[in-house]
Amino acid sequence: MMRVSSVLLCGATTTLTYTVAPIHPNTLRFTLCLAKPFLSSSTTPTKSTNRATQALATTPPRVSLQRHCKFTESELVHDDDDDFVVVNFYHFLFFEDPKAEVAKHLSFMEGLDIRGRIYVNEQGINAQYSGPSKDALAYVEWLKDDDRFSDILVQVSPALNGHAFPKLRLRYKPSLVQFEGGDAHLPLLDPSMRATPLEPSEWRKKLEAVNPVDDLSKENSSSNYILLDVRNGYEWDIGHFDGAQRPDVDCFRSTSYGLSQSEVIASDPLADVDKEKTDILMYCTGGIRCDVYSTILRQRGFQNLYTLEGGIAHYLKNEGPVKWTGNLFVFDSRLSLSPSTYKPEAKAKAIKREEFSSDSAFAKCYVCGSQVCELRHRNCANIDCNFLFLCCTDCVKDLRGCCCANCTTAPRLRPVLTGHQRYKKWHIYRDSELLSNLAA
Ligand SMILES: [Zn+2]
Ligand SMILES: [Zn+2]
Repeated sequence: MMRVSSVLLCGATTTLTYTVAPIHPNTLRFTLCLAKPFLSSSTTPTKSTNRATQALATTPPRVSLQRHCKFTESELVHDDDDDFVVVNFYHFLFFEDPKAEVAKHLSFMEGLDIRGRIYVNEQGINAQYSGPSKDALAYVEWLKDDDRFSDILVQVSPALNGHAFPKLRLRYKPSLVQFEGGDAHLPLLDPSMRATPLEPSEWRKKLEAVNPVDDLSKENSSSNYILLDVRNGYEWDIGHFDGAQRPDVDCFRSTSYGLSQSEVIASDPLADVDKEKTDILMYCTGGIRCDVYSTILRQRGFQNLYTLEGGIAHYLKNEGPVKWTGNLFVFDSRLSLSPSTYKPEAKAKAIKREEFSSDSAFAKCYVCGSQVCELRHRNCANIDCNFLFLCCTDCVKDLRGCCCANCTTAPRLRPVLTGHQRYKKWHIYRDSELLSNLAA
């Protein structure tokens, strides 16, 4: 069985005929923010959801993937209907009636095996979901047949192990990303209020220009730039662009760069910069966090805002891990992807000694501070803690998969996970313990 290697689908640009609001060419993908550095795991009790059954009668015609297929042979290298993929995209556009839009999408999804988070509101759509490739891509095809979506940048990567999300949540949401006060009041539909998107190759050139490898060019390089990681600290901990400061942020919701009034705050790289002369190079996983946050910075007077179009995922797919160190944190059950997931032929560069300097949290065990072998987080085995943390193999063994000694004595402990597994629902562990007690 062959898996779909990461596929990037960029529809040809066609004329938009009935968009009400201006559409920006920068159109892509996702983001989920966590209240704390915890991942909601499948242990979280959740309402059942396939709301497809509640969809209204506005059923659009089903699109046959074969008939409308826009993928080239090389993009779709698979021969197994059960190949699962993860799809991410986002798009800012004005929906006059977002709830009717949701109903249309739910109706199309009836009978499709799709799980994930798809949020719609007056300013657009933000989607990340998994499914067998035929179902997952049928939804993309259906969307792209609509002129309003024909130019969206859709990112597809292999799911590794079936669904990457526990269930489907396709609904109206007042905010497309979790942000303090929501994003409904932000001018997301106005491209001039967002950062200028740079294609991966332009981004790479920009990084090479401002941060050259050789000393000669270093002397001539411009220092008037800030490379801003618009993610959370724990995401930076397993991978980031070289030269980016670790974000002092646990949740995108509370990001506040450039908002301090007067005093210089060490944790705010934008606190003391010249808003007119400094280039702010912003990046995040898929681009939406930068797009949203750049509107806030624009409102604060920052002039030279650039963002990496399609985010790190799009960059790794196109450029490989040039100027990039480590893995990419993702907000689904895969948690961490190596650059080769996106560009199999690309070789990750060896991590340099200075990456592990004592003041850096990069690739460090949260318990003992030693270097971790695998750039992948795990949830604490204590279900009532569930903290998402990096841990070395010795500490995993010593603390039986817990984040601290206290958690090892908690009443609801799960077994230590091996490999790339994620924890399942609590009753599975509870019941297996009951059974083994009964057998004893
Ligand atoms: Zn350790
Ligand atoms: Zn814990």
